[in-house]
Amino acid sequence: TGRLAGKRILITAAGQGIGRATAIACAAEGAHVIATDVNPALLAGLDGMETRAFDVTSQEAIDALAAEVGALDGLFNCAGVVHNGNVLEIADKDWDFAFDLNVKAMMRTIRALLPGMLERAKETGAVSVVNMASMASSIKGFANRTAYGASKAAVIGLTKAIAADFVKQGLRCNAVCPGTVDTPSLRGRIASAADPVQAEKDFIARQPMGRLATVEDIAPMVVYLLSDDSRFVSGQALSVDGGVTI
Ligand code: NAD
Repeated sequence: TGRLAGKRILITAAGQGIGRATAIACAAEGAHVIATDVNPALLAGLDGMETRAFDVTSQEAIDALAAEVGALDGLFNCAGVVHNGNVLEIADKDWDFAFDLNVKAMMRTIRALLPGMLERAKETGAVSVVNMASMASSIKGFANRTAYGASKAAVIGLTKAIAADFVKQGLRCNAVCPGTVDTPSLRGRIASAADPVQAEKDFIARQPMGRLATVEDIAPMVVYLLSDDSRFVSGQALSVDGGVTI
């Protein structure tokens, strides 16, 4: 039973943060979850799920996954990296890495898994891809988020294009755009700031609701988009940002 009962759902970067919370939420809604991460040690403790190592930046790994994973009803592309810096500071290699991980890897993963999902859609009429974007994207500009914001804007464009191409084949594709979420990588960004106490205050101050998001604030939106409750929703970038974009 549950809103995702009978659905096979694959999640990238499920080892920690939003991906992990979403894997747990999907399993609680009855999904068969395939939880993947480049660091398989982080997948420990995800009980009742299928787990596997998966580096989204490796075409070889994507091909192996597509050959082995079987038909999917849902795919949550969560893997991504935050690069800190303005346009004067950015090195080509950092820009390329941001786009390779945040956008190209997502396109390649979808390209490889979509044929199986479209086959599945012939039986069920309903498969769903959810892509991790951010409020830092085409939605809003933030200081020191040049490569990140540009790459997450590209995620929204990719999402809308896929939604347009496959809308008549039972495939929906949406993006989720979180505000600032308390995750291990955010804690790393705070710790590496010149003044970590002030950095945490600043992250909280930009959230009108007066706090950071928890990973459990974000996961329900992904569950909704993966479930048939969102059957009339496609090509959207859905913000879950504590009021930042009010
Ligand atoms: P995180 O950054 O703390 O953890 C990232 C996870 O991704 C780790 O488990 C890591 O092992 C995995 N990973 C890294 N490289 C990978 C690769 N090549 N292949 C597969 N997995 C890989 O988690 P988070 O902060 O929840 O971020 C997850 C996603 O959410 C990212 O796309 C991020 O941009 C996005 N996001 C985060 C926030 C935030 O404030 N934390 C806000 C908006 C969007």
